Amino acid sequence: MKLYPLFADLRGRPVLVVGGGTIGERKIAALMEAGACVTVGAVDLTPALREWVDHQRITWRAGRFEENWLDDVWLVIAATNDAALHARIAALAQARRVFVNVVDDAALSSFHVPAVIDRAPLTVAISSGGHAPMLARVLRERLEALIDPVWGLLAWMLGDMRTRIRARLPDLAARRRFYARLIDGPVRSLLRREQFAAAQTATEHLLESADDRPAGSVVLVGAGPGDPGLLTLRGLRALNEADVVLHDRLVSAQVLALARRDAERIEVAKQAGNHHATQEQIHALMLHHAAAGHRVVRLKGGDPFVFGRGGEELEFLRRHGIAYEVVPGVTAALACAAYAGIPLTHRDHAQSVRLVTAHCKHSIDTLDWRALAEERQTLAIYMGTSGLSAVQQNLIRHGRAASTPFALIQNGSRPEQRVVIGTLADLAERAAAHDIRSPALLIVGEVAALAGTLAWFGHPPLEAATLGTPALNGCNSSVRY
Ligand code: SAH
Repeated sequence: MKLYPLFADLRGRPVLVVGGGTIGERKIAALMEAGACVTVGAVDLTPALREWVDHQRITWRAGRFEENWLDDVWLVIAATNDAALHARIAALAQARRVFVNVVDDAALSSFHVPAVIDRAPLTVAISSGGHAPMLARVLRERLEALIDPVWGLLAWMLGDMRTRIRARLPDLAARRRFYARLIDGPVRSLLRREQFAAAQTATEHLLESADDRPAGSVVLVGAGPGDPGLLTLRGLRALNEADVVLHDRLVSAQVLALARRDAERIEVAKQAGNHHATQEQIHALMLHHAAAGHRVVRLKGGDPFVFGRGGEELEFLRRHGIAYEVVPGVTAALACAAYAGIPLTHRDHAQSVRLVTAHCKHSIDTLDWRALAEERQTLAIYMGTSGLSAVQQNLIRHGRAASTPFALIQNGSRPEQRVVIGTLADLAERAAAHDIRSPALLIVGEVAALAGTLAWFGHPPLEAATLGTPALNGCNSSVRY
């Protein structure tokens, strides 16, 4: 069920609550806070409800529900313990186009009452669409702790200034920047200390000095390997503030979804063998948007400085006088190792790790194979899957034992992750048998064998014994034999 969220202005509007018990009382208290004109229909009332009736804060229709109680009301809430009565109220309300909420009965309700975090005038409302109200409540408790009362004060203050802010900063992007600076600046802390005059002055100052067209900037953000949980908090913040997101194809949809809703998203980079844009075009796009005063996030898979051409992009930005920042990301080697249960270093097996790229013939030919073939080190090889047999042959030819374990991780940290493990001797053959595709990372070294026992994420690794098992030929099965 997908609900349309709305906040209702019930000030002075008649609302009926059927049921005078504790649940009815709770509903009525919230309705009164919103200024509704509440009538409670019930045979009997709780002491609190009676008191509200005595003080004429609500009206009481004593007795059993009658259809004409629905005359002229905007909403009705049924909060009795009589299921048949609930069904009747729901049907009658429906027929009259009056919104009805039946307590604990999502199917009979035409509106739901969310769990609320009240920072008036700021209100956060959470609904599970009737599926799991308990979840909504737990989430509310967590958010309660996150959203301090200052947000409400800030909302009051800005409400008073709204017309002036719009007049001073007619441009939406400029206004957004003003609000971002306000929220991150000293004003909130002044409000927290109840220094209201100082907060007001600081806000005025910020408004006066707000640049209509500030210099644009570029933040190079590492998006990590796919799991959105691996994005850093700084990365998330940059995404929240970005006007434009220039992202690589490898960046996962879940990470992209964290960008501001109205940010312009532009896919710029290539996947192996499928060039969508050249590096020059990427540079031109960054320059174009930054020069227009936009806050650009250049979102790259993994870490921007690990085989990501981040260095070239910064050199370009520097040459053109564009301000930049860099937010590191979890690079594929770290993520794939972690999500496959492979410690990259281990006291018994490897004292160093090398990050290597073998994307094309050129990079394979220029590698120092003698050094790469040395023992007691782990290789993390970023690669297109085509170079596997060259890696295998070169390592063995330069002295690495054919029995050295490897792990090949496709789509590391993503739900579709697959891990193939084996030894160098059968690397290319096994990768082909399991149809390993890009993006995939190769880990070579004794530690790779640990995936066999330490794996914890997704499907268990496909081990050597699986080769030749008919059910697993060319497969992506999760069965381990
Ligand atoms: N800057 C990136 C690397 C870009 S090069 C980083 O720091 O991770 C692209 C290569 O990274 C791919 O060919 C693949 O070898 C590796 N890679 C990226 N994401 C991956 C993933 N989720 N699983 C496996 N390998 C991945």
